[in-house]
Amino acid sequence: MIVEIVSTGTELLLGQIVNTNAAYLARKLNSLGFHVLYQSTVGDNRERMTQVLATALARADIVITSGGLGPTQGDITKEVSAGLLNKPLILHEPSLERIRCFFRQRNLPMPDNNVRQAMVPEGAIVVDNERGTAPGVILEEGEKTIIHLPGPPHELEPMFERSIVPYLIRRFGEQGIIVSRVLRTYGIGESTLEEKIRDFILNQSNPTIALLARNGEIHVRLTAKGASAMEANELIMRLENQLRQYIDQYIFGIDEESLEIVVGRLLQAKGMTLALAESCTGGLVSSRITDVPGSSVYLTGAIVCYSNQIKIDSVGVPAEILERYGAVSKETACYMAQGIRGKFKTDLGVGITGIAGPGGATATKPVGLVYIAVDGPAGCDCQEYRFFGERTGIKHRTALAALNQLRL
Ligand code: ATP
Ligand code: MG
Repeated sequence: MIVEIVSTGTELLLGQIVNTNAAYLARKLNSLGFHVLYQSTVGDNRERMTQVLATALARADIVITSGGLGPTQGDITKEVSAGLLNKPLILHEPSLERIRCFFRQRNLPMPDNNVRQAMVPEGAIVVDNERGTAPGVILEEGEKTIIHLPGPPHELEPMFERSIVPYLIRRFGEQGIIVSRVLRTYGIGESTLEEKIRDFILNQSNPTIALLARNGEIHVRLTAKGASAMEANELIMRLENQLRQYIDQYIFGIDEESLEIVVGRLLQAKGMTLALAESCTGGLVSSRITDVPGSSVYLTGAIVCYSNQIKIDSVGVPAEILERYGAVSKETACYMAQGIRGKFKTDLGVGITGIAGPGGATATKPVGLVYIAVDGPAGCDCQEYRFFGERTGIKHRTALAALNQLRL
């Protein structure tokens, strides 16, 4: 079943309000298995709205509109669809009574305008509005269905949930269950990743595969449709197992599992503790690690040792090392890692130093040069990185790289 969502309201076109109704409806409809293939937005203008509705009706089985059911002259959605379907607007007595009652209960006089809200195209199914005065409207026209919902989200959402979902299922049957699973990867570019699983991407049908670059990670989203959740899950697991033959080493987590969650779990499983000496990241790695509840089990503490003097005083980087190799060097990173590990008596120590820019670069040391050292029982491992981008981007990528080094 193909659905088009038509959002009406000039304020949407002006950018005065964010179109949350379309996002809400799309999310709900997709999870019910309906194919939302189009969304359009149109202002409160008769001609253009007629055009948009006609186009939507031609290409979709179900057209769902939001907005324009109010009492004012700008609210024209029902008139437009009545005109399009050649139907007169007729008074729906029970709705008028509900509206009267709405005003009576609030001890307010009912403006004549509100009678317009009780006018519906002939033959319409009227849907009660529990939160406001404008009823929703369903029009069945041959194979096509038009559904008009009110604009205010606190009216639209309960109406959709309580009345429209049961209606859609009654009329069109269960559309199947949709299940998604995200494989989160790190350390591989989007195009390289795509190349590795190209055949699967080209031949995808059910499940579908989508690649998404997200904050330095590449996410592989698998979406399957099945008669039951079990069937959909099985389809996903089968594809995931196949994909893992090509990209397993890059997958660090599933769905909401961030690198810091995965690292925390690994440290906990190994019973290891951790301390960090951060320079160019300014505490960002510690911050991310402490985003995970319960991280005090493995994170002992951290020092932001930004200046050379504090690198000497707090974690014991020798002055000669700083002078000879510079603050941004493999040697300094290793001393920082060893120093913090000794000082905080942990199993692992991390030292991070780099040039986040935009200043501070030299001929041999460009912006984005970063050293990350991890010192542990097996010795000190230091990696050199050349990151691109602006300051916060480099800090962010450095934090990801440090967390990734802790995964090993
Ligand atoms: P009313 O009876 O309040 O006039 P209505 O059905 O005529 O309701 P609109 O006039 O189009 O709906 O919109 C009423 C209010 O609902 C808007 O001012 C806005 O705050 C909110 N609204 C409308 N459309 C959307 C949308 N697509 N996303 C989020 N909010 C919306
Ligand atoms: Mg209105």
